[in-house]
Amino acid sequence: MRMEELTWPEFEKLKGSVDTVILPVGSVEAHGRHLPLGTDTFAPLEIAKRVEERLQELGFGVLVAPPVWYGHTFVLNAYPGTVNVGGGAFMAYVREIMREFAVEGFRRIVLLNGHGGNYSPLVLAAEEVAQEFPETEVWLVNWWLDFREDILSVCSSQGHAGEDETSVMLAIRPGLVRMEEARGRKRRSKVRVIKRDVGRELFPDGVNDDPSGATAEKGEAILSVVSEKIARLIAGENDGT
Ligand SMILES: [Zn+2]
Repeated sequence: MRMEELTWPEFEKLKGSVDTVILPVGSVEAHGRHLPLGTDTFAPLEIAKRVEERLQELGFGVLVAPPVWYGHTFVLNAYPGTVNVGGGAFMAYVREIMREFAVEGFRRIVLLNGHGGNYSPLVLAAEEVAQEFPETEVWLVNWWLDFREDILSVCSSQGHAGEDETSVMLAIRPGLVRMEEARGRKRRSKVRVIKRDVGRELFPDGVNDDPSGATAEKGEAILSVVSEKIARLIAGENDGT
């Protein structure tokens, strides 16, 4: 059930029978010269849709909330089109959204996150909500991290605008992918260096991986294993790992 499509009486009826809400969280930011700025929201939105469909088959109801499009993206802010919301403001904003769901009576809030920079503020926001609402738990799902092993059984590598993300975008929005511009390589720094415009060094052109081997088939394989596993976790079934 997509929340934005419901009337308030429909929502009120639904919340009595559904205790889990999925909140997709993304980012508007540079993803190389080959992927759209909305990549980090397109992916969790698609995963949320598939998780909901799978849960329906398992007889489990879930509410999918409208996504949080803008995220915290200090590192990629060196590139045009990146919209960075400061960590404190982003944390407070997501915390307030989650508080509303807790007040409405949802007992499990699944943050379906599509962007690495959101990680720390989301943990802080979740901790505050958990502290205030002891009956509500927050799950932070970072699809590319939590299911890394599965992804690396499909792709030879993963990274920002890399083979995995590019494959996922080829599966869901092929018309938005410019494969002729897909190039890059993996870069790592020994320690985390925080400085302005560090993205120009660590993410040349907004890429940190080699995306050239991406295919729609790989993307489909990633989406199906990730959504299956998330659905099974939510339904309380063994995810098979
Ligand atoms: Zn991304």
